[in-house]
Amino acid sequence: MSKPAESMPPMAAITVPLLDLKQQYQTLAHEIIPVLQKICASQQFILGQYVTDFEKATAAYCRCAHAVGVSSGTDALLLALMALGIGAGDEVITSPYTFFATAGAIARTGARPLFCDIEPAGFNIDPQAVSRFLQHDCERSRSGLINRRTGGRVRALMPVHLYGQCADMTALLALAREFGLKLIEDAAQAIGADDAEGRRAGSIGDVGCLSFFPTKNLGAFGDAGMCTAQDGELAEHMRVLRVHGSKPKYYHSFIGGNFRLDELQAAVLGIKLPLLDGWTAARARNAAYYAAAFERAGLTARVKLPSALNGQRHTWNQFVVRVPRRDELRAFLTQRGIGSEIYYPVPLHLQRCFDYLGHANGDFPQAEKAAAEVLALPIFPELRGEQLQSVVDQFAAFYS
Ligand SMILES: *Cc1c(COP(=O)(O)O)cnc(C)c1O
Repeated sequence: MSKPAESMPPMAAITVPLLDLKQQYQTLAHEIIPVLQKICASQQFILGQYVTDFEKATAAYCRCAHAVGVSSGTDALLLALMALGIGAGDEVITSPYTFFATAGAIARTGARPLFCDIEPAGFNIDPQAVSRFLQHDCERSRSGLINRRTGGRVRALMPVHLYGQCADMTALLALAREFGLKLIEDAAQAIGADDAEGRRAGSIGDVGCLSFFPTKNLGAFGDAGMCTAQDGELAEHMRVLRVHGSKPKYYHSFIGGNFRLDELQAAVLGIKLPLLDGWTAARARNAAYYAAAFERAGLTARVKLPSALNGQRHTWNQFVVRVPRRDELRAFLTQRGIGSEIYYPVPLHLQRCFDYLGHANGDFPQAEKAAAEVLALPIFPELRGEQLQSVVDQFAAFYS
């Protein structure tokens, strides 16, 4: 028997990874492997029947008329912007508090990301901030809505449904209509989420963008994504742009890209999709467990818990608390075998690559405050109650 070294901090009785995908895989391997073997035997890897079937299933699940399978969530965002004709001279309003891809995709089209601050309770873009910007800083002209400060044309809103909860789509949709803006939903973290009016994420705006990155609620065995749309012409345009704008083959009326989803990923996702609602329910149970356990431990004055706002269907891609002494707490948890992550430590307006936008600390105080306070805790479906309790016990140990 070896004794732990004196300097080692005490491990928790039960260690808890932030995410463990192996358990899910083990229960599905017997279904997935034969299908992958079948595809390998056929050597039909690109845009075949598995992609078509998965597009149909996803469209139905997201209550959309159309779905276009693509190579990643990032490419879904890029393809949506390209299909709506957004590019140089244009501006797209989005959240400064999101994964980089949201604003990165806007910038890659040649358009300018235009940030509006978030509302603190749900971490999503604040429609009042968007409204203030549109009312006071823009003017309508013959060529469209002009940002007075930059002279750029404001073309679209791109809200993010962060952590699995929809942005305030009722207010944003009203603003989009009033100001003639396109609406693109970054639903990369929110497949299956419903907004306060019961509308499904990705079905509300002009295009919904999904990601099947392995850590998302519906994860591929690599990169994959999807664009959803209600409008058939827009969906068809995205299909053409997905293959370099080629239609008919080798005739290019548009410059697209290679944004294809492949058969192997579509087959895996097609097997997993029918299980998604069960996994989401397990995530919701875990969130409820945390809420009760933090309450029991008397920690809710210190640890600000997330909640589903206005009766929305939150899909809990992440369970993100706000805490004092966040970085110290995180180091403490890590030493005791409790996984956690900071989504996101630097808001996008303060990223170096966006220096050219001319932002400074203090421009978006709510996003900056969130970046300093948030901590994501383990929430994946297969977690056991004793593991969740162990997370809460370590919080109690830290704050005692
Ligand atoms: C994951 C994610 C993306 C990008 O998706 P990928 O599939 O990783 O390219 C975009 N936006 C948000 C909010 C995300 O969380």
